[in-house]
Amino acid sequence: MHVEVNVPKCVASGQCVLIAPEIFDQRDDDGMVVLLDDSPAPDHHDSVREAALVCPAAAITLTES
Ligand code: SF4
Repeated sequence: MHVEVNVPKCVASGQCVLIAPEIFDQRDDDGMVVLLDDSPAPDHHDSVREAALVCPAAAITLTES
């Protein structure tokens, strides 16, 4: 799995950080998403998929191979 985030689309809602805190963080100053790991280990895949689904800005893109 490869993860990308589109920071300009992010609305700083924080759902991704709540669901997958090992993979996503938020900038301290404006709350925009920070991608911590663009190739998460398999045990994080379900939570990353859920984060991508619930992101209100559709700012998280997954590529699965
Ligand atoms: S869930 Fe989406 S909009 Fe919210 S902080 Fe994460 S990337 Fe940004």
